[in-house]
Amino acid sequence: MEKMKSLNPNNLGLLVEDCQKIEISQFLKESRLKMKEALVHSAIDASGMTIELMTSNMNFGGLRYWFKCPMCERRMGTLFIHPLSQKIGCRSCLGLEYRARRYKGMIEGIVA
Ligand SMILES: [Zn+2]
Repeated sequence: MEKMKSLNPNNLGLLVEDCQKIEISQFLKESRLKMKEALVHSAIDASGMTIELMTSNMNFGGLRYWFKCPMCERRMGTLFIHPLSQKIGCRSCLGLEYRARRYKGMIEGIVA
């Protein structure tokens, strides 16, 4: 006597190999690529100015992300908004100093 077949209407005797696979790892890999692609092509709107992103390749693969200084167009990890002009740029473009360095100069100036 024939063994009773499953009542599952999808059971047509197909093999796993007959079907197209959707794997989470592949899905994540593609999503990550799309995300990175979108990130690189996105621009950040800060104080009405558009700041572009740039990338550089890391030694062991992968990408590192940077801001593009709107003034000198160099890759920067940090940009600043000038408190008076409201201009956005890197430290050197805006002529900014660190407090410690300025005080150091002042103290040396006083001692000298
Ligand atoms: Zn700059």
